[in-house]
Amino acid sequence: MQTATQTMKEVMQSKWNKRPLIISGPCSAETEEQVLETAQRLANTGKVDVLRAGIWKPRTKPGMFEGIGTKGLPWMANAKKLTGLPITVEVATAKHVQDALQFDVDMLWIGARTTVNPFSVQEVADALRGVDIPVLIKNPINADLELWSGGIERLQKVGIKQVGMIHRGFASYGNTEFRNAPMWHLPIEMKRRFPDMPLICDPSHICGNRTMLQSVAQKSIDLDFDGIMLESHIDPDNAWSDSKQQITPERFAEMLDVLVWRHENTDEKEFVSALAKLREQINHLDDELMTILGQRMKIADRIGEYKKNNNITILQTNRWNEILEKAYTKGEKLGLSKEFITKYYDAIHLESINHQNKIMNS
Ligand code: PEP
Ligand code: MN
Repeated sequence: MQTATQTMKEVMQSKWNKRPLIISGPCSAETEEQVLETAQRLANTGKVDVLRAGIWKPRTKPGMFEGIGTKGLPWMANAKKLTGLPITVEVATAKHVQDALQFDVDMLWIGARTTVNPFSVQEVADALRGVDIPVLIKNPINADLELWSGGIERLQKVGIKQVGMIHRGFASYGNTEFRNAPMWHLPIEMKRRFPDMPLICDPSHICGNRTMLQSVAQKSIDLDFDGIMLESHIDPDNAWSDSKQQITPERFAEMLDVLVWRHENTDEKEFVSALAKLREQINHLDDELMTILGQRMKIADRIGEYKKNNNITILQTNRWNEILEKAYTKGEKLGLSKEFITKYYDAIHLESINHQNKIMNS
């Protein structure tokens, strides 16, 4: 809570350093009443550090609610006055930055649809030259870590000292259980590239529904993320955007209570804790590998179908040699032995043939 002597800047600073950093609020600011009530109910839980709301909403299709615009900023400022919570909004243009700063927004974030565009990120960065507030940058919609890293570098180059990352999952074509596939190995790689930079998980946009929020949040904690940004709404079903994934402030507080927070051991247990974390990463990567292998076999099934209809043999030696040669070259660069690659691909090939066999003889 803000004390009389503490400036808002100091409050934001202490939140920035707090672990875990918890950010919540509606997908979109809709009305002043909705913003104020959400803020009050979040503050009442005593578990939220920063209030979020989308003011300008980048929507994939026209005709959807595109945000209330600048007139929502005084609502956020009032919510801060009411609760003492620092506030954060998404910015995508220089004008957004100017407007947000005019209303003393304490922290900004760059959304996934903006991170994909270096022109936009640079425009936002240029507008932030000489400004000293924390800026979070979401991963781009597509699984391109260079774009994400590039965005971070653009912010750092204009002098932003407090840059953080938000993992919100990656778009993929077709049906998956997630709205945006988490692809945990990607944020893990970003942690390797930027070891001292806060990494926040956004389970809302990864899941796109309420049922998986808890497990995704837990996974991120297990992977030593530094905080959570989660969308909350006083009337989730009737939210003007992302209604399927939002939950009430009280439900969020319950969720936070159930989460198992891993804490770092400092003394002789340091080794055990480090080991546990690495194993956790291995578990998630293995999980990822299984999912990808499953997908690969599904494609094999479809190829089998096609070959059956056209009376073509399953085994085509040229094609297989081509795959193997590519794998050896890539494997060598990644430090994988030829022996391992051979065994691994033989196993995959065999499984793939079995799948196709089943299809062709069904
Ligand atoms: C949001 O946080 O409401 C949002 C638009 O998210 P993203 O940029 O991850 O799609
Ligand atoms: Mn949203």
